[in-house]
Amino acid sequence: MTLKDLNQKIASCQKCPLFKTRTQVVPGKGHPKAEIMFIGEAPGQKEDQTGEPFVGAAGKFLNEMLETINLKREDVYIANVCKCRPPNNRDPLPEEVIACWPWLLEQINLLQPKLIVTLGRHSMERFLPSFKISQIHGKALRRKIEGIHSSAKGQVFYTLYHPAAALYNGSMRETLIKDFQRIPKLIKKIKEE
Ligand code: URA
Repeated sequence: MTLKDLNQKIASCQKCPLFKTRTQVVPGKGHPKAEIMFIGEAPGQKEDQTGEPFVGAAGKFLNEMLETINLKREDVYIANVCKCRPPNNRDPLPEEVIACWPWLLEQINLLQPKLIVTLGRHSMERFLPSFKISQIHGKALRRKIEGIHSSAKGQVFYTLYHPAAALYNGSMRETLIKDFQRIPKLIKKIKEE
């Protein structure tokens, strides 16, 4: 199965009640052989309308940060923990996240990214539940996660603040930009290991 086939399957998902209020499913988008996979929380209004992840203000900021490390959106893969917009942009409910989780695992296993970059606390908590984002942002951790077919060494995760949260918060914005700049060196190191 290809990511494209998988995303077509995701597009007709009715595993949780969010299918009733969504306009479109937002499965994910990017290079099918991307080395870096960014994982956000859930689609917002613009994403729900277009079917693409991170196309609003946070997405514009993400594009700008990608440019600073000489990458374009098309070079990476961008997805969310939840593939459908929660009404009024509320946080996804635990049961919605759990219903959507197998889709994300399948995406990760097809893509086999060298690096998973979690965007925001909710995304981080799915993979690294025992940490606080304020402590581990900007740090890379290798973990074996049930359901992810990584090498014996485990999958590398890198935690960032969410671009939407950092957009209008001066110090968080600075921290996010600084953490983002470490991605190229991190990829190089992972390849050398
Ligand atoms: N915020 C997210 O977490 N994901 C999106 O796709 C857009 C905004």
